[in-house]
Amino acid sequence: PRGTLTRPAAGLSQRERHNSHSHPASPGETGARSDPAAGYHARMTPLFDELVLGTRNAGKLRELDALLGPIGIRCRSLEGLDRAVEVEETGTTFAENAALKATLQAVALGRHVLGEDSGLSVDALEGAPGVYSARYSDPGATDARNNTLLLERLAAADASRGRGAAYECHMAIAAPDGTILATSSGRCRGVIAREARGSGGFGYDPLFIVPEYHATFGELGPAVKAVISHRARALRDLVRLLRTPGLATPPPITPRR
Ligand code: IMP
Repeated sequence: PRGTLTRPAAGLSQRERHNSHSHPASPGETGARSDPAAGYHARMTPLFDELVLGTRNAGKLRELDALLGPIGIRCRSLEGLDRAVEVEETGTTFAENAALKATLQAVALGRHVLGEDSGLSVDALEGAPGVYSARYSDPGATDARNNTLLLERLAAADASRGRGAAYECHMAIAAPDGTILATSSGRCRGVIAREARGSGGFGYDPLFIVPEYHATFGELGPAVKAVISHRARALRDLVRLLRTPGLATPPPITPRR
């Protein structure tokens, strides 16, 4: 079935725990082998029963959930998890913050956690707002205030540098003991519009023109974002790592007679 796993969670060996940024050879026995779909799902998600998404950002949660469900990875938010902690983004890079969110939350919860850090880097603003994307205008920023400030800063910037920008996303999956099991990243180039267009997505999406479509992510809606966004690309890369051959026992091949 979609969004559920066909096998129990498998523990990692000592060697596997130390094998950060790569994956264990065989996490254990697979479940229902008589179901032809079982092998498929087992290869998708050999390491955990359920993945906790270490973010409280509703827009990110919506997108991650929509991307993970169809490939058989069951996930949940931090909502209702009493032991969840507020992880301070003290890193200076997206990668550092993603790893912090994954590791600290995983240890607090004793579960596998996907940490994600993302933001917008504008060429003419020397990469700003970057890791400060969520709190660009002020510590309690709203999307509207962030977008207004971005337009103001860009209007004051050197126009000859254009309005090019990139969304960036870094991800890390941590095991319950905090070990980082895999990391990935994704990028999506765009151009900052002169005014907001569309109400889809979240954050800077109404200002982010995807050149191939001549439309902002705010206008394009979730289907396009699910294919070409920084988050979708990072997630596909991460899932590819989790599917690395040898991670799970492949389903048996029944020879034709
Ligand atoms: P984080 O929660 O510290 O990773 O901050 C992410 C911030 O970057 C969000 O609050 C948005 O302002 C911005 N951001 C990241 N990804 C997107 C996206 O897909 N669309 C629009 N804004 C995004």
